[in-house]
Amino acid sequence: MQSLRIHSRSAVPFSVEFNPPRDAAAEARLWRAVREFERMHPAFVSMTYGAGGSTRDRTVRVTGQLATETTLLPVAHLTAVEHSVAELRSLVGAYADSGIRNILVLRGDPPGDPLGEWTKHPHGVAYAEELVRIVRDLGDFHVGVASFPQGHHRSPDLDSDTAYLCAKLRAGAEYSITQMFFDVDDYLRLRDRVIACDPVEGAKPIIPELMPITSLRTVERAEELSGRPLPAAVLERLHKAAGDDPEANRAAVREVGIEIATEMGQRLIDEGAPCLHFITLNFAKATSEVLTNLGYGVSAAPISA
Ligand SMILES: Cc1cc2nc3c(=O)[nH]c(=O)nc-3n(C[C@H](O)[C@H](O)[C@H](O)COP(=O)(O)OP(=O)(O)OC[C@H]3O[C@@H](n4cnc5c(N)ncnc54)[C@H](O)[C@@H]3O)c2cc1C
Repeated sequence: MQSLRIHSRSAVPFSVEFNPPRDAAAEARLWRAVREFERMHPAFVSMTYGAGGSTRDRTVRVTGQLATETTLLPVAHLTAVEHSVAELRSLVGAYADSGIRNILVLRGDPPGDPLGEWTKHPHGVAYAEELVRIVRDLGDFHVGVASFPQGHHRSPDLDSDTAYLCAKLRAGAEYSITQMFFDVDDYLRLRDRVIACDPVEGAKPIIPELMPITSLRTVERAEELSGRPLPAAVLERLHKAAGDDPEANRAAVREVGIEIATEMGQRLIDEGAPCLHFITLNFAKATSEVLTNLGYGVSAAPISA
């Protein structure tokens, strides 16, 4: 069985996150990005899981196609939102049928308003920790979970946030992927907290998530996804590039965004991050520019097991 190969070579591997396409045009765009990344040999690619109905069906189908029609190693995100345990088991079965063995287990956010009140499905799970156990009990799956450099927005404090992350790892998760962040010190502090909380679980990889900012609009998206405002120093650099006319200065803003992601990537590599995970929004260009700046290339040898 193929598991994540994030310990397997001296150069730091990278991985990318895709989102489920909402329609046929978006699906075509996703596949263009998939084929571009395929040439760069990511350690794995992950596919988020979210909105209801037909998008969910499409998510399961497209994630399965990543396993059967590409050379990539897919990690399927799975959330507990609006699902009974029976439905969650059947989704895991559907992923397994297409050969997917790597699952990122999440509780998910309330639909519509991510900051709204979380309601557990009457026959579902309350926390990701329970879902980790369910997936592990279903078979030989490699499970990852979410971690939060600044703490999850619902956690009362950083100590309880860390304790719950350690509980997810103890329940059988093999690694975590962080929420995106823009201050590398937050990632380093998370790593220290987890080691202090549980030295055994603290040895498991914490994969940092990066998102290259390509416009002031992406700033809003980044703040929405991370649930936190960007650090003032980062905003200042972007707004300085935008000047009085963000539209006319789009290229300058993008350049600074790529520069920031490159600097963060380099510092994370220097600090021993096990892998760099990029949010791509299904576009390859910005992430591949950052990777090129960091010395990765399409001619890089595949990461061998
Ligand atoms: C890398 C990454 C990928 C993501 N992908 C998706 C995606 O594909 N789809 C999507 O909808 N969302 C996704 N999210 C968002 C995620 O679902 C939300 O942040 C969600 O609010 C928390 O999920 P979790 O798995 O960390 O939940 P949990 O670990 O269950 O934590 C939720 C809250 O409960 C607290 N808690 C945990 N265990 C306990 C306990 N035993 N008792 C009391 N409190 C507890 C935690 O501290 C936290 O505040 C992703 C997040 C990350 C970082």
